[in-house]
Amino acid sequence: MSYPYRCSKCKQRVSLSKHKEAYKRKDPVCKACGGSLTLDKYRRNVEGKKYKCLCDGYPFPHRMGSKMCNENDTPLTEEDYRDFYRRMSYGD
Ligand SMILES: [Zn+2]
Ligand SMILES: [Zn+2]
Repeated sequence: MSYPYRCSKCKQRVSLSKHKEAYKRKDPVCKACGGSLTLDKYRRNVEGKKYKCLCDGYPFPHRMGSKMCNENDTPLTEEDYRDFYRRMSYGD
């Protein structure tokens, strides 16, 4: 799965393999003009329509009530966090 971004200056579409925040060293920028990228919310919704929840527990659409989801009020274990960060670092 990729993340649909759009340049805030030239409006060009940019597709990133990871969420912008997953790029730790440097924010990805537009290749054409160097402008900053914003998530294309409409396309993200379209692509994520099989998942219901877009809260910021995960940087991608997910099923409501997933472990890191804000809608899930089950306390997380250390194992859950490990699993979450492992998945974050290897992407999908
Ligand atoms: Zn641009
Ligand atoms: Zn959620």
